Amino acid sequence: MNSQPTRIQRIRHDLHYRPVVVARVAPLSPSFVSITFTGDALADFRSDSFDDHVKFMFKDPGGESLMRDYTPRHVDLLRRELTIEFALHGDGMAANWARQAQVGDEAIIAGPRGSVIVPMDYDWHLLIGDSTALPAIHRRISELASGQRILVLAQVDHPEDRRQFDSDSALDIQWVTDHEALLEATAALPWPQGEGFVWAAGESSTMMKLRTLLTENKQHPPEAMRIAVYWRRGKANVHEQLA
Ligand SMILES: Cc1cc2nc3c(=O)[nH]c(=O)nc-3n(C[C@H](O)[C@H](O)[C@H](O)COP(=O)(O)OP(=O)(O)OC[C@H]3O[C@@H](n4cnc5c(N)ncnc54)[C@H](O)[C@@H]3O)c2cc1C
Repeated sequence: MNSQPTRIQRIRHDLHYRPVVVARVAPLSPSFVSITFTGDALADFRSDSFDDHVKFMFKDPGGESLMRDYTPRHVDLLRRELTIEFALHGDGMAANWARQAQVGDEAIIAGPRGSVIVPMDYDWHLLIGDSTALPAIHRRISELASGQRILVLAQVDHPEDRRQFDSDSALDIQWVTDHEALLEATAALPWPQGEGFVWAAGESSTMMKLRTLLTENKQHPPEAMRIAVYWRRGKANVHEQLA
């Protein structure tokens, strides 16, 4: 274990609005579609962290411009492509847009405004989240160096939404199908030895309970934890950083 706690690093970026079009639409599972956008404006797109988000700007069926937060899941600068994985939840404007997306559809990608770099040299990494956090969790798993200890607690709506991760790391994954079970799985998790970093994102009330669980029950140090609200029941377009 390191004698000094490792600190996260923050990077700021200039804000750019990048017009893009849909290049590919790939359904992944019942609740996910992967959409790859392309455009010359992506030539200098930069996303330094799995924790990044962009403002995805699109038009609703009435022509009104809307924006929602999404994780850059994959970036290919040579091909000027950015891939986002949309969780197809009940009835949201962005989810509906993604459900119906077709090659050539237009959108604007704004940001990321900044990146939070979580060092890789922790003894272990615990990633917790629901469907909205799964793209970030997947990206983190693919970016962590091989051989690292990664624990994942992930909630998806359907068993078929569970996915394989291609990783050389020591990966320990638990899938659950409801938010309460995500908390129960965290509570039941034997806390690994050494210095670990906990990253979590998802539904508001679950993330608030999770913060209490991690800080009070697990006594996990706040400087080694990052928890975000990615959505709130009954409210559109919510983002809140809890820790
Ligand atoms: C930093 C950040 C990164 C994110 N990355 C991703 C990502 O990569 N992929 C992804 O799919 N989402 C991601 N999200 C979550 C996404 O922004 C929200 O789910 C967003 O509300 C979806 O917009 P919408 O227009 O479909 O629904 P909204 O119009 O925002 O909401 C409509 C209704 O749907 C409900 N709702 C919203 N999201 C969900 C949900 N997931 N399940 C059930 N009900 C919901 C709301 O409570 C509201 O009642 C991220 C959020 C943040 C803050």
